[in-house]
Amino acid sequence: MTAVGGLDERLAAELARLEKAGLRRRLRPSAPLPGARIRIEGREYINFASNDYLGLAMDPALRERWMKELAGWGGGAGASRLLGGSLEPLHQLEETLARFKQTEAALVFSSGFAAAIGTIPAIVGPGDVVVLDRLAHASLVDGARLSRAKLRVFRHNDPEDLERILRWAQEQHPDGRVLVVTESVFSMDGDGAPLAELVALKQRYGAWLLVDEAHATGLYGPRQAGRVAEAGLSGQVELQMATLGKALGSAGGAICGSKTLVEFLVNRARSLIYSTGPTPAQTVAALVALRWLETEEGAARVRRLWANVDGMRDRLATLGWPLPAHRSPIIPLVVGQTYRAIEMAAHLAERGLWLPAVRPPTVPRGTARLRLSVSAAHSERDLDLLADALARLGPPPAA
Ligand SMILES: *Cc1c(COP(=O)(O)O)cnc(C)c1O
Repeated sequence: MTAVGGLDERLAAELARLEKAGLRRRLRPSAPLPGARIRIEGREYINFASNDYLGLAMDPALRERWMKELAGWGGGAGASRLLGGSLEPLHQLEETLARFKQTEAALVFSSGFAAAIGTIPAIVGPGDVVVLDRLAHASLVDGARLSRAKLRVFRHNDPEDLERILRWAQEQHPDGRVLVVTESVFSMDGDGAPLAELVALKQRYGAWLLVDEAHATGLYGPRQAGRVAEAGLSGQVELQMATLGKALGSAGGAICGSKTLVEFLVNRARSLIYSTGPTPAQTVAALVALRWLETEEGAARVRRLWANVDGMRDRLATLGWPLPAHRSPIIPLVVGQTYRAIEMAAHLAERGLWLPAVRPPTVPRGTARLRLSVSAAHSERDLDLLADALARLGPPPAA
């Protein structure tokens, strides 16, 4: 058992420490099923933890369509996008995405994480400043760190605090460029960034803005393009980031913006240049989903999601749970203590409801929670079952 150099001993001690704090994580083999169901280690649950908000990943009709389009394509791209791995459907996907997001161009990476850590260090560097919302996703934080620009964090969704930092940057780094980074819908809280205020500020201070629409793409606005498009700000946000692995039910990440931006990233984003291109399967699945979203059937599915979101919010309000003011399929049931969140998740699992605890460091200390996500694939009865199980767990913790 003793590894050379004692690496395993050191890692085992760290794992034991995590275990004691209730913070050790494990992977469980799973099989998502249609109708917001999931099989985990042989047991079937109603899934309340998926980002597949529209139920597209497992939709039988869509699956049939993309499997047909996939015929003739192989398992992998075979090379980096620059060396022959830039598959034709990927270019169709990018054109469709640009139209969808109302930008000149779009660039697809193999994941949202790759998009973030490739893009931020490509456009800013030492001498520049990156200002992130405190709750920005790990991929954005890592991208900012990799850039070696100066890092500053503003209070969550607080334009006044952002302005304080922009003023500081103007005084201390007059020659550097400033990039402001936020999410349009936050992944763990479901609340929305004040986009119009952020845009006004970044204009006033001559900064650039990156908005990560991972949890808004496919859901908001008249064409489901996201919250930036909904607010009519597409022309004013330099970088719109999207993930294809959430509401679109596939995988991949995209940066949408000007043609020049995209051409520059092709030359400078290391996660694109030095990585095998996105697979045919993920590309075709995203393309089929995006086209379908523009149909009347797609619009109806989105309406169904919002009806479910409202239905779940009503049920939770009746039980006394505090709800975020912003309407989103992500509804955090914050319980505070890690052990309590784990206990609640275990009780729900016993009743066939999959809603695992989200713990630090994914969320700030003392805000352990059940991150409930509502899907268009849930039935009224699914929502009733969850509300019923939550009621049995007793009143929500005092706010
Ligand atoms: C999921 C997520 C990402 C990463 O996207 P992947 O495609 O899953 O790598 C980036 N930003 C936010 C806010 C996310 O929720």
